[in-house]
Amino acid sequence: MAEECIFCRIIAGEIPADIVFQDEDFLAFRDIMPKAPTHVLIIPKTHITSVAELTEEQQRLAGRLIMIAKNLAKKEGIARKGYRLVVNCGPEGGQLVPHLHLHLLGGRQMDARLG
Ligand code: 5GP
Ligand code: ZN
Repeated sequence: MAEECIFCRIIAGEIPADIVFQDEDFLAFRDIMPKAPTHVLIIPKTHITSVAELTEEQQRLAGRLIMIAKNLAKKEGIARKGYRLVVNCGPEGGQLVPHLHLHLLGGRQMDARLG
């Protein structure tokens, strides 16, 4: 655990969060400032700073993030109409929290333009 990391502190139970899923290796919780009716963040319980830090050995972990998002989209009732998955990486990518996370956004029409 990275002491200063907000998401590691959520994993440790030090900061409350609206948890929607967890298993041994992953946690999913609602974003505190939702940008859509459904806005869930899916994170690995291991502290990985960003996609830029992912190793070849962690490929499966990256795949699992997407599979969890897919399953949660179904559970949230947004699978049929569609949803958006976003991973921001680094300062110019708009990443504010330096702990790898996948945004699951849905429940409204997304702008076709990115950025
Ligand atoms: P990023 O810009 O790094 O891709 O996204 C970080 C997200 O984390 C933002 O959407 C922000 O609202 C969310 N966030 C930041 N701090 C907290 C927190 O303490 N709890 C929860 N649930 N979400 C947070
Ligand atoms: Zn962390």
